[in-house]
Amino acid sequence: MATTITERKTLWNDVWDRVLDKMRDSINDKAIYDSFFADTSIYNIDGNHMTIMVSTDFARSIIEKNYRADLLNTVTEVTETNFILEFISKQEASIQAVPQVESKPKNSFFENSEINPNYTFDNFVVGPSNIEAKQAALMIASNPGKFYNPLFIYSNSGLGKTHLLHAIGNYIKVRNPRLNVLYITTDNFVDEYIKFVKGDRESDGLKDFFRTVDVLLVDDIQFLANKDKTQEMFFYAFQTLINSNKQIVLTSDRQPLDLNGLEERLVTRFSSGLLSKIEQPDTPTSIAILKKKIEANGLEISRFDDAALEFLAQNFGNNVRELEGALNRLVFYTINIKQSSHIDLALAQESVPTSHKSKEKKLNESKIISVVADYYNLTPSQLTGKIRTSEISMARHIAIYLCREILDMPFTKIGQTFGGKDHSTVMSAVKKVEKELKTSEQLKTVIKELKNRLK
Ligand code: ADP
Ligand code: MG
Repeated sequence: MATTITERKTLWNDVWDRVLDKMRDSINDKAIYDSFFADTSIYNIDGNHMTIMVSTDFARSIIEKNYRADLLNTVTEVTETNFILEFISKQEASIQAVPQVESKPKNSFFENSEINPNYTFDNFVVGPSNIEAKQAALMIASNPGKFYNPLFIYSNSGLGKTHLLHAIGNYIKVRNPRLNVLYITTDNFVDEYIKFVKGDRESDGLKDFFRTVDVLLVDDIQFLANKDKTQEMFFYAFQTLINSNKQIVLTSDRQPLDLNGLEERLVTRFSSGLLSKIEQPDTPTSIAILKKKIEANGLEISRFDDAALEFLAQNFGNNVRELEGALNRLVFYTINIKQSSHIDLALAQESVPTSHKSKEKKLNESKIISVVADYYNLTPSQLTGKIRTSEISMARHIAIYLCREILDMPFTKIGQTFGGKDHSTVMSAVKKVEKELKTSEQLKTVIKELKNRLK
């Protein structure tokens, strides 16, 4: 029995939403994204050919010229499948353009930060590993500023911290729409602060701005380390909110005490509310997460043998992001390669690419990119892409440095790997890291840790 057209379309839509989420982050330019990407969709998938529908012939030429590589990386990452991309414009497909949804007016600060409606409490699967964090988050969301302040959630990467932050935001927006909820990444905060200091602003009210925020959700606070001036501003914002009983929720990859390079007074304050750790899900929880994702993809759960799900849970359960990746790959493999509708253990095993199986053994540039990206909570395509926020640039330089140092790759080849940079750009990135390594203890620690993870 083959899959129906409707099932395929639902799956495509879901996949494309994820691709677009990543592209939006990676392009990091709302005007460009809205004009060229917001209106795209998967037109067809035939074998390993994916045809993407874009709004106009012009958009098609822009995307093909400037964003093809980035888009391909993203599609590969989301589907875990090597597709060949093709484009078709709406004119060509003679389909009416869908009217654009008007976006609401934005804050003068943090213009690009949004709460992701896809991350809710409802679709957060609970197990022993995360129940406490979920309960704490829900308590906060139903009564902001009243219980623990701040709530500090920490865990390894891919275990649901960002999901919970957005879930808090979504919950409050429905129950308490008058409250001004702001979700930002620490990277956003650093960039905003830099713009603010450079006077790149009409008003000079970053401090005033924080007085208007009722609930502040800050993701990945570990990236505030060693940024003294920014920490000062963050401290100010933090105190302003806490003093007026406004809720703060922070996430991090480690507990406050382990945040090296952070001012003592921040560490103390971060620890003064509730600390909650998320552990790796156990196998039953991982299976429940898989079932939730299958449902969300509009697929029939009865198609999947328990053994297939158990296989994925056991092999990928230490990181839910990877677990999702493995499921996507399995579904794509089943639909596009095997053309079959029943998913058993053998199929699940086959769907794991050899590159993944041997990934642990052989060190190559993809492994370096994925380890560095993971360390900085970025996607591999952000790391090899073009955005230049301070955090991403630093991470990119480090990845480039490691490719040179460990693999001794030629500069030109590194350049190609990192989105078509020329030889001299790569060389100066390597030099920059080498120079900084002579003076920065912090960087030495980072490089040591990364090399460890690459072993
Ligand atoms: P982190 O911020 O800790 O790195 P994320 O919140 O980005 O992790 O989670 C990675 C992915 O895994 C997201 O797509 C998220 O929705 C999903 N995820 C993590 N934990 C759960 C869970 N308990 N239930 C459902 N999905 C989850
Ligand atoms: Mg996160």
